[in-house]
Amino acid sequence: MLDYSHEDWKARAAALEFRNKAFIGGTFVDAASGETFDCINPATGQVLTQVASGGEEDVDRAVRAARAAFEAGSWSRAAPEHRKAVLLKLAELIRENLAEMALLDSLDMGKLVTDAATIDAPGSAHFFQWYAEAIDKLYDEVAPTGPGDLAIIRRVPLGVVGAVTPWNFPLDMATWKCAAALAAGNSVVLKPAEQSPLSALRLAELAAEAGLPDGVLNVVPGYGQTAGKALGLHMDVDTLAFTGSTAVGKLFMQYAGQSNMKSVWPETGGKSPNLVFADCEDLDAAADMAAFGVFFNQGEVCSANTRLYVERGIKDALVAKLVERAEAMQPGDPLDPASKMGAIVDEAQTESIMRHIESGMGRAALVAGGTRLRIGGAGCFVQPTIFDEVGQEDPLAREEIFGPVLSVIPFDSEEEAVRMANDSVYGLAASVWTGSLSRAHRVSDALHAGTVSVNTVDALSAVTPFGGMKQSGFGRDLSLHSLDKYTALKTTWIKYQT
Ligand code: NAD
Repeated sequence: MLDYSHEDWKARAAALEFRNKAFIGGTFVDAASGETFDCINPATGQVLTQVASGGEEDVDRAVRAARAAFEAGSWSRAAPEHRKAVLLKLAELIRENLAEMALLDSLDMGKLVTDAATIDAPGSAHFFQWYAEAIDKLYDEVAPTGPGDLAIIRRVPLGVVGAVTPWNFPLDMATWKCAAALAAGNSVVLKPAEQSPLSALRLAELAAEAGLPDGVLNVVPGYGQTAGKALGLHMDVDTLAFTGSTAVGKLFMQYAGQSNMKSVWPETGGKSPNLVFADCEDLDAAADMAAFGVFFNQGEVCSANTRLYVERGIKDALVAKLVERAEAMQPGDPLDPASKMGAIVDEAQTESIMRHIESGMGRAALVAGGTRLRIGGAGCFVQPTIFDEVGQEDPLAREEIFGPVLSVIPFDSEEEAVRMANDSVYGLAASVWTGSLSRAHRVSDALHAGTVSVNTVDALSAVTPFGGMKQSGFGRDLSLHSLDKYTALKTTWIKYQT
């Protein structure tokens, strides 16, 4: 656990050297066009560095490098034990460079550096370690054929994996894709979000240092409309793993249809419900976790519990507790360990959140926050905000705001709570608070969500799949199940004389 002061973090930030070129075929290169884009620290508005802006030509170069590495076989046909050793080494290097990895994400997209150093960066190391340790323990199958026939069913790597990731957990979203895809023996071309490419570039460099052969992991920073689209449309990408908005997830499905029918795994938006029943055994714990569930990472979490359904009899008591917690979580400098909330990723996202808040003010009761802040005269900060008595049809309760905004909606019966919770185009996650075991099972069974957390929020770990239903997409990250995305079933049928 890193125990740095505000001054320590600032000094480390000032001394950072950014990797700002594309990483293709094992080396850092400029974009073919020579173009760059500004990487801006949303807490200060300052330009951190200018990053190579990849386009079609760069994506093509990266896919060719990835394909060549795959065909060469030094990774794709390596013994699982070898892949395990390299990925374990990568996990170790991430741990050795924990402060740097945490700072890159914090400076790039505004999250608290202490969260990045205690959750995101250790999480990345853990997930690489987990897939490294898993990959030499997986057995294939022999089909139940008759004598004289031996049918072996193996899981084989697909080839070139395209990965397109969002800005809210830059290192972890890159890790969720790369750790499983690489462990399975694929080559990867990663396109990180243009708001936050720095940790992915450093990750690729650490992977090379760990012994990953050239061309196996390539990172092409760039805009979605150019680099992201080129990857989605590329004729030689075998599968596309995407995390981001629902609108862009749908585009990737179109790109696949317009190109080579690559499989596409969308993990997209959410508007997760949190149901608190009057028989909840610990209302303080429910308030703590409801606040964490919606305000952690500035609310920029796909599975954030943004709709709070509360049984009417306890609603006012719970809201009072939540207001206290919101007031104690005001944003501050992300590099200050005393800060409780960081900066919003950029100006456009801040304006979008504020538009939702301002339009909601006329329709629901604002009971906490609601204001944009500038710290030291600059930056993109939004107070933790709570609206009470929100209507089920209100845009506050229906649209993904992707910021620190909670909508509270009272209910009178279990049936009504479940109906309203399921009344959403999304189905990523849900939470239920109750002291009744039967209700916990009954309601969990009835909720349309990839993960239902009971008496907690957003339960997540390497050992369980993470992903959604409905327009939250159908891709699954984490657990052994995510290997399904990155492998094909291959049958080899052998006839022999009996
Ligand atoms: P986004 O969809 O705008 O961008 C995600 C990625 O897609 C970025 O790399 C971006 O450059 C790229 N992209 C954008 N437009 C593109 C286009 N036209 N063609 C190809 N690529 C394009 O999402 P965001 O704003 O970066 O992230 C926030 C969204 O991500 C939210 O909706 C959130 O719920 C979702 N998210 C989902 C999960 C999950 O696991 N389900 C996790 C984190 C975030």
